[in-house]
Amino acid sequence: MERTLSIIKPDAVANGHIGNIIKRFESNGLKIVAMKMIFMTKNEAQGFYAVHKDRPFFDSLTDFMSSGPAIPMVLEGGNAIAKNRELMGATDPKEAAEGTIRRDFAVDKEKNAVHGSDSPESAAFEIGYFFNSLEILG
Ligand code: GDP
Ligand code: MG
Repeated sequence: MERTLSIIKPDAVANGHIGNIIKRFESNGLKIVAMKMIFMTKNEAQGFYAVHKDRPFFDSLTDFMSSGPAIPMVLEGGNAIAKNRELMGATDPKEAAEGTIRRDFAVDKEKNAVHGSDSPESAAFEIGYFFNSLEILG
């Protein structure tokens, strides 16, 4: 069993895709063991995406992530990190495979519906960024 951090990003919340995205996780063997709705400050978004602080899109990305409610959740399952990345699809929805969350629900390369941890190390940091151990009910 493995855990990963998912976020339903502000575009997908605003566009009414919460239920459809959660359905993809639950029907593909990923169990939700923690979940909340939050409205990140610019500072909180910068802390979450600190790994990207030198990228040209950092300011725009953190503006977007602090533009409206988002839903971080912890997903648990076999190979949860890779499974979630597979369900999400490529960063740019134009390059995402058919049937993936980003292909079906993203707006563009930045407003791309979901976040997913990319390694065990990033999953540990990202889960701890939003949830303490008492909030993870696995
Ligand atoms: P991910 O792991 O597929 O989410 O992609 P990255 O870790 O490379 O980038 C983090 C997030 O930054 C992406 O999910 C997008 O929201 C955003 N992003 C990535 N590349 C670009 C880009 O070229 N332009 C803009 N505006 N945003 C980007
Ligand atoms: Mg990433």
